[in-house]
Amino acid sequence: MQVRNGTSSNLFDVESETDPEKWYQVFANGTVIKCTCKGYLGHRMCKHLGAVQQYLQQTEGGIEEEEIGETAPSAPSSIARWIGLPGPGAP
Ligand SMILES: [Zn+2]
Repeated sequence: MQVRNGTSSNLFDVESETDPEKWYQVFANGTVIKCTCKGYLGHRMCKHLGAVQQYLQQTEGGIEEEEIGETAPSAPSSIARWIGLPGPGAP
């Protein structure tokens, strides 16, 4: 099953196993993952989700730098973490 990047950084296209001409769109942003196929709409679960998760794990190391530069999804939480810390070396 082939997976490729879609039109945005959170969108992926997954090839249909039964129809090579057909690609399903899967949305995944790290917390939410959903598919456009009938199976997902019916059961909230489908093999395309697994394919995208596997694809993300494989590509994680390779595109990490690019992703940080483009989206920086963890910026707000890391700032909050810094503010929350009193500082271990405070006098
Ligand atoms: Zn699906």
